[in-house]
Amino acid sequence: MRLLLVEDEKKVASFIKKGLEEEYYSVDVAYDGKEGLRLALTTEYDIMIFDLMLPFKDGISILKTIRAENISTPVLILTAKADIPDKVIGLDSGADDYLVKPFSFDELLARLRTLQRRRSVEKNLILKADDLYLDTQSHKAVRANVEIELSQKEYSILEYLLQNKNRVVSRTKLTEHVYDYNFDTNTNIIDVYINKLRNKIDKNYKKQILHSVRGVGYIIKDE
Ligand code: CA
Repeated sequence: MRLLLVEDEKKVASFIKKGLEEEYYSVDVAYDGKEGLRLALTTEYDIMIFDLMLPFKDGISILKTIRAENISTPVLILTAKADIPDKVIGLDSGADDYLVKPFSFDELLARLRTLQRRRSVEKNLILKADDLYLDTQSHKAVRANVEIELSQKEYSILEYLLQNKNRVVSRTKLTEHVYDYNFDTNTNIIDVYINKLRNKIDKNYKKQILHSVRGVGYIIKDE
């Protein structure tokens, strides 16, 4: 799950980023509206969170621009308590939900889960290949009825491969999905995680579902 957070208050931004990363999200942060819009237009996110008052470009303007560009990614607006009219404008402009600051982290997580669930009408909640199942809400993987413990990165990789089942996913695409933009995509760390993942989901089973495509990337096959 890759998420964009546009928030100019550094403390709030780092609190949210840190908390969400513990919950298996990959988080890109933009500290002003211009950078936020640039990322929103150029990167594929699962959810976006916009603060309203931002330097250079406010949250509503970003929202209007991306909706005009037909980007339908769920957007959660963060508002200060005094901005009630802005809340209405936000929802009218195509936001999916809003949260009033200060908020509890649990509430933020609950709102994000709801947005994910809504989104899951088009994307499946339970991903599957052969006898491997991945629950995208609880982050649990099960193969042949045995639960498999996954690290955050392993989960993200498996989720993305399953979402693209039977298609080859390039190493670059995979890295983009699993890491935020600060990550150096030239390293082969993704191969290290793939190996760990393979040990967990394939090693003790007859049928291999995760395959390498030499020089290109990886594929999960479900025939
Ligand atoms: Ca602000």
